[in-house]
Amino acid sequence: MDATIFFLGLYDPASETVEVVWQIENGHELPGGSFPLGKGFTSDVLRTGHARLIKQWSREGPRVQVQYATGTPGLPESAVAAPLRLGDHVIGVLSVESYRKGAYGAREQELLQSISDEAAVVIAGLHFTERLGIQVRERVSELEAILANMADALLIVDGRGRLVRLNRAARDLLSLEDSSIVLGQPIEEQQLEDWPAEGRAVAESLQPIVQALKATEEPQEVEVDIGPRRTLSFRATPLHDNAGVFNGGVIVFRDITDQREVERFKDDMFSMASHDLKTPATVIKAQAQLLKRQVRAGSADHDDVEQGLAMIAEQADRLSKLLNLLLDLSRIEGGRLDLDLAPTDLRAMLSNMARAIQSTTDKHQIRVHAPEGVIGHWDARRIEEVVQNLLSNAIKYSPAGGTIDVLLETGEQTATVLVRDRGIGIATEDASHVFERFFRGRDIRRLEGTGLGLYICQAIIAAHGGRVWATSPGTGQGSTFGFMLPLRPRPVAGS
Ligand code: ADP
Repeated sequence: MDATIFFLGLYDPASETVEVVWQIENGHELPGGSFPLGKGFTSDVLRTGHARLIKQWSREGPRVQVQYATGTPGLPESAVAAPLRLGDHVIGVLSVESYRKGAYGAREQELLQSISDEAAVVIAGLHFTERLGIQVRERVSELEAILANMADALLIVDGRGRLVRLNRAARDLLSLEDSSIVLGQPIEEQQLEDWPAEGRAVAESLQPIVQALKATEEPQEVEVDIGPRRTLSFRATPLHDNAGVFNGGVIVFRDITDQREVERFKDDMFSMASHDLKTPATVIKAQAQLLKRQVRAGSADHDDVEQGLAMIAEQADRLSKLLNLLLDLSRIEGGRLDLDLAPTDLRAMLSNMARAIQSTTDKHQIRVHAPEGVIGHWDARRIEEVVQNLLSNAIKYSPAGGTIDVLLETGEQTATVLVRDRGIGIATEDASHVFERFFRGRDIRRLEGTGLGLYICQAIIAAHGGRVWATSPGTGQGSTFGFMLPLRPRPVAGS
């Protein structure tokens, strides 16, 4: 049979495309490709499932014929095409074409059809297994991409606890940037001593999980503290083969330190709010009830009423201070500490605050040493809050009284304020913690407080681009709190 041009195409009904799997012209194989089902000769065979014979194309064929099979100019003159049929389905088409007129007749058509019928069966088998192969490959690469891009760390072990794979996040958590993990080896046999300490700690907490998985063949879920400030959560799921036999597991783990921190913060905040807000509210209510009873009974004299009202006012102040602290705190935590910067005279502010606070105490003498004309761009209300906090701490933590010095110093671009008291001082081990949220010194429980004041001061100063610090020669020897502010702060991200 004249097969100057030979063409084999497979049809994919889902996408309605024809994939050219084999095409030969004059003994040369041409590259394949795919094309959408059209209205032409081969498409017609695919669509109808019937063979077609063209004896003289220039007369009987469709006028426009896109040629997939040949690069030779001009159209073939005769062609015969037969469908590859599998039951009711047409899975492809086989065709031969010639540049000669009348190259094919009924005999050739029959012959091609019988070749097609045999080929269809063979190709169907090949085709489907190959297709399956492609599908599997696609699924695998899809899964690979998912694993690689997962935020959670993932590790797979086989039935004997040997590490068979891990993703990028797992590598990061195990601090294995410069690889030294051996696949196919159990975790406990890895050369852990060569690992960075962080990664070793993670690997060590993985071991009992793998063991438990092997021993119980049940899912495992644990949270492990790694060092004082890091928590990881692990979840292990067993894998079984087709026969239901345990053959390893998938362990997904991640760092939940931040989440823990937020939970801890919420707990602390809740316990503070419930404890510290309750006390003044209770006192206010009790005082009011007492006054009411006394007034009703006509037993309240002027002093009683005045004292009672003073106590109510004092507790209401305390309450509102606490609420302000909580508000500030939630602003800071939410990154919403907006600053309202305007020219601010620092000396004037220090003097005013000192005067106001001096009026609350006879035991202390507040002295301000400040040059004039220190004006910076600050949020005056917030800086007042800081000064107020430092001054009231200086008084609170000097229960025996004494002098409190407020010093203002200026540099070319900065202003520094120091508040020095002669009070109880700070124990060496506390010094680095006083600015932490909810931190309270050891021996000061009897002095009222929340452990929030300095934390908030620190956040306010940091938002201005400055810094705070505390120094003390030791317990009983007074302390000095200082902060430095740039005269023209640049906005700090998050503030
Ligand atoms: P609070 O005063 O409510 O406890 P702060 O955040 O203002 O909270 O202070 C945190 C801790 O720092 C205090 O509990 C105390 O131990 C210590 N501290 C603060 N100011 C002084 C000071 N002037 N002298 C000694 N210790 C201080």
